[in-house]
Amino acid sequence: MRAGVLFSGGQDSTTCLAWALDRFDHVETIGFHYGQRHAVEMEVRAAFLAKLRAIRLDWSAKLGEDHVVELAGLGAISETALTRDESIAVGESGLPNTFVPGRNLIFLNYAAALGWRRGFSTLVAGMCEADFSGYPDCRADTLGAQMRAISLGMDRDFTLHTPLMQLSKAGAWNLADELGGDALVELIRTDSHTCYLGERGDLHDWGYGCGTCPACELRVRGWAEFAA
Ligand code: ZN
Repeated sequence: MRAGVLFSGGQDSTTCLAWALDRFDHVETIGFHYGQRHAVEMEVRAAFLAKLRAIRLDWSAKLGEDHVVELAGLGAISETALTRDESIAVGESGLPNTFVPGRNLIFLNYAAALGWRRGFSTLVAGMCEADFSGYPDCRADTLGAQMRAISLGMDRDFTLHTPLMQLSKAGAWNLADELGGDALVELIRTDSHTCYLGERGDLHDWGYGCGTCPACELRVRGWAEFAA
């Protein structure tokens, strides 16, 4: 009962990590460094793991190695607002320019290759099609096809769990509350990072962030709905 969690340090992946720790005996975390504009994401994830260990000793015992995979080449070939100094806008395709083409497909390949070596064939990730910007690599049918290709290509059955797939952001807060109560909700509120602009100046009731980028907008609205 081992699993690997795609862990960026955002609200979604921190919630997925708790979900995995609630279900599996041994959980490893995988982060990707792909030339993000803001290093804050990578800093936040290590601090989150340390604090999670402190508030939940039972989960700490199950929490294994944290892996960071270098994918600088992805940032170099994708001209997006996440990897370049560019303002966030919706492009002609109807997708925001925060879309890194195929990013989740690439992440899953690497996570599975790591799982092959580390002895887990179950992956957990925070993709969500209910309440996101319409990224085509977050959709259940895309991910199903990718996991089939991975299983065939590695000749081993890999499974992907996406516990947030049909949840709104408020639903994700509710799930965190069910899994870890106030302590987990508070940890995610103060120590996860979602903002596309890397803003961590003031702590708002919904957490840190600029409050106006598309990721913050979803987070602000979700928190308001959850807290109501
Ligand atoms: Zn923001």
